[in-house]
Formats: sequence, C-alpha cells, structure tokens
Amino acid sequence: MEKVRIQKVIADIGFCSRRKAEELIGQKRVKVNGHPALIGQKIDPVHDIITIDGERLYYSRKKQHVYLMMNKPRGYITSMSDDRGRRCVTELLPQTDVRIYPVGRLDLNTEGLLLFTSDGNFANDMMHPSRAVSKTYRVTVRPDITDEQAVKLAEGVYIDGRKTAPAEVRVLSKENNRVVMELVIREGRNRQVRKMCEAVGLEVARLKRTAFGPIRLGMLKPGTCRELTAEELKAIR
Ligand code: URA
Repeated sequence: MEKVRIQKVIADIGFCSRRKAEELIGQKRVKVNGHPALIGQKIDPVHDIITIDGERLYYSRKKQHVYLMMNKPRGYITSMSDDRGRRCVTELLPQTDVRIYPVGRLDLNTEGLLLFTSDGNFANDMMHPSRAVSKTYRVTVRPDITDEQAVKLAEGVYIDGRKTAPAEVRVLSKENNRVVMELVIREGRNRQVRKMCEAVGLEVARLKRTAFGPIRLGMLKPGTCRELTAEELKAIR
C-alpha cells in the first residue's frame, strides 16, 4: 500500500479534519505503532497501527462518507457540545454511522445553510482560503442603507485590522425601516458579515446564509437536514 501522510489518513477515515488531525498530532495524542506521530509522517494506512488517545482507527473500515445540509435556526451554537448548556446544532442532526462535523460555523443568532460531513478532506477543501468558496447571505439591516455604505461593503472594509476582499452587494427590498440585501463573500472570517456591517455603521437585524458555493438552501425547513444530492456534490467539488 502506498504511504500517505498521517493527517490525511485520519481525515480520510472521517475521524476529523486534516487541520484538527494536525492539532492532535501536535498534542502527541496520535500514535503510529505505539510511537508519537509527527505531522507529515508518511504511513501505511492498512498495516500501521494508528491510535488517537489510545483508541485504534481502522482504515479498512472506512465507510461511505456522509454530506448533509441543515437549515440552522437562530439560537443554536455550531458546536458538538456546550458546557454552558446552550442548544447545539448536534441536537438537530440525524443518527449517522459515521462521525460528522460542521463545515465552518454560523453564529448563535445566524440562521440558514450549514453543511456537515464525515469527510475531513472535503471539509478542509471547502474552508481553505485558496478555494475562496462563495458564501451568500441575506442580511436585514435597519433603518436604511446608503449607496456609499453599499459601495464600501463591496470594495472592502477593515475588520480586525485587515481589509476584506471584494464582495457582491445587492439590495433586494426596502420597507418599514428595514433593508434586505444579498451579500456574497469569499472569505470565512469570524463573524465577518456582522463585523463588515458594523464597520460601515449598519445594524444587522437578521442574518441568514442562503447558499454555500453553488449549493442553495432552497425551501429546507428550519431545524431540519437533508443529504446533498450527487449533482450538488459534483458542482461544489
Ligand atoms: N458572518 C457572520 O457575521 N456570522 C455568521 O454566522 C456567518 C458569517
């Protein structure tokens, strides 16, 4: 069997993302044949014995990967568990044979499209800055938006000391002191949309992600999940 980097093997098995695997290796929690693994170490995935925190991983038991989308409601955190007792997106996930985890995250009060997968490499690719996958948000701001504010959002604003990449901004409707706009960004910085709006003096009343790359949320009911179709997977890969 061809030798493969340890972090890729762990992600291929579906234990976690490649980046998370590197963290675990750095923390000396991963062993190969009883010896602490090194990041980038090439191993034989079938014959070498891999353990994480003493638990053996089996490459040959690799199962079919799972790819799901959820319409995340407000009030749920994008985390597998919470020591402060807040509701977690995991409560809304169906039972799966394999361990799945979110591709990126949405804030507590952000709703909409959130992907989950058991495929660590897919998750890694989708989040990698070089892929610059587009994320489409429907943002409700109040009371109004000026042309100048819209242009600034589109051209880039400074958040956390660094300018955001160009974005697409489209005003969809204006009524009752509320403006609904569509914002498409290609980065995934922490609370990026809220911070961008704040930077130009806009107050966000509601934030919903409606698309991730070519994958659209459509009419999926809040709090429910469905598997991605073969066409959706093909389009995003
Ligand atoms: N931008 C935000 O501010 N929050 C999200 O949840 C996603 C993007």
